[in-house]
Amino acid sequence: MAPEIKYTKLFIDNEWVDAKSGKTFETYNPHDGSVIARVAEGDKEDVDLAVAAAKRAFHRNSEWRQMDASKRGEILYKFSQLVERDQKYLAELESYNNGTVLNFAYGFVSGAVNSIRYFAACADKITGETIPADGEVFSYTLRQPVGVCALILPWNAPISMFLSKVCTALAAGCTMVVKPAEQTPLTALVLAALLAEAGVPKGVVNVINGFGPGAGTSLTHHSDVAKVSFTGSREVGKLIQQASGASNLKRVTLELGGKSPLIIMDDADLDVAVRYAGNSVFFLQGQMCIAASRLFVQSGIYDKFVEAAVKYAQSIKVGNPTDPTSQNGPQIDKEMMNKVLGYIESGKQEGAKLLCGGHRIGTSGYYIQPAVFANVTDNMTIAKEEIFGPVQSILKFDTLDEAIDRANATEYGLAAGIFTTNLNNALQFSKHVEAGIVWVNTYLHFTPQQPFGGFKQSGIGRENGLDSLLAYTEVKTVATALPKTV
Ligand code: NAD
Repeated sequence: MAPEIKYTKLFIDNEWVDAKSGKTFETYNPHDGSVIARVAEGDKEDVDLAVAAAKRAFHRNSEWRQMDASKRGEILYKFSQLVERDQKYLAELESYNNGTVLNFAYGFVSGAVNSIRYFAACADKITGETIPADGEVFSYTLRQPVGVCALILPWNAPISMFLSKVCTALAAGCTMVVKPAEQTPLTALVLAALLAEAGVPKGVVNVINGFGPGAGTSLTHHSDVAKVSFTGSREVGKLIQQASGASNLKRVTLELGGKSPLIIMDDADLDVAVRYAGNSVFFLQGQMCIAASRLFVQSGIYDKFVEAAVKYAQSIKVGNPTDPTSQNGPQIDKEMMNKVLGYIESGKQEGAKLLCGGHRIGTSGYYIQPAVFANVTDNMTIAKEEIFGPVQSILKFDTLDEAIDRANATEYGLAAGIFTTNLNNALQFSKHVEAGIVWVNTYLHFTPQQPFGGFKQSGIGRENGLDSLLAYTEVKTVATALPKTV
């Protein structure tokens, strides 16, 4: 049975309201393209109201600003309990709206509970320093919340994205306006309701559904927004930096795309490497910014590896996300499905060898059979551009030195991985690869404690870990003259 749709409006000042224009838009189930619900469509007027609410909630005399940091942590902990209470419903709604296989959605929500608890515990541990400044002063720094934040989300992991940004901002003491992706507004609205139930005061978290041009641009140009944290495409990331420069120089954190290299050395455990390499590009239908979409395999094991990789891809069961035996669900929408199929076509045209999959399954919904390409070369489009779909591109290399150079020959720098049993290989690669996170003999290992983000055009700043918290604060230096000693 389809999950109940409890909320479809905008959430401002802890109240559900219609868009000022009265406009709504449809949100879909990617399994069959059917309409799930109509959702209020926020635009500039609604953004202005939401930012004003967040600004009031950030006033120095507000309940939120007067609250002890430990109490913020308590509220976050209470929120984690509510998410745990409602985890089944949240996972079902996530799967219904974005096509994540239900079994994995359950795992995401329980993982998210740990992430909330990590940030709950951080709330009263954000500290400044005492400075041995020259002269007769007592000098120290304060870490203060940056102010009203705009949190702009993508559609590929809506609950995880909402929680990592919102909980970091709350732990730091900020107030915020969240804009979920237009494809996946539903779970964000439920989480907003749970935050209010946990005791987050009105105006602290507001949610405006809507589109990039409209709700998104109104937020990024707003002069009362102090910081934007954005996850999404590189193209929009650049627009957000421009908007910051054109408005009030708001602080910008960007989590953008990737073309992440995974290196398999001759000495790797082949079975383990094949399994991880497959999962690292096919999980979530390949709709992951950290997808290992350039798989470099050393020449000595190349043929054997390719054969095993094809078997792995063929073993993936693609089907209805609610079917407990499904491992892959549909792509998010028709546009993304066609984009991925277009990349697969370009791979064939440019001379890569398609060994399995790569076609649409059926005519209802947006399913693609996982594809494996061999004989891929660095200059091919599928080796250069982010595909965001279930496409494994296998390239051959001879030496680690060569693999590092080729791995780094990209504008992106999000994730990287290596499978090897030689410690020196692992250390060399980890030191020289240009990526924000490096996995050795593993991949996709995420925890809330580990900072995550990109080098180069994969982004600016980090999510998770203590680094992410500090990015929601400003440093204030206070120097107080010491009285002359008698
Ligand atoms: P997108 O950039 O089109 O949209 C992301 C969000 O930005 C949506 O909420 C959208 O409404 C909003 N937006 C669009 N135009 C805007 C504008 N001009 N101003 C303000 N907001 C605007 O990306 P997408 O299609 O939703 O997601 C796919 C992309 O996101 C991929 O390229 C992927 O690599 C990237 N991604 C990165 C990460 C990461 O952590 N680095 C995670 C998930 C997705």
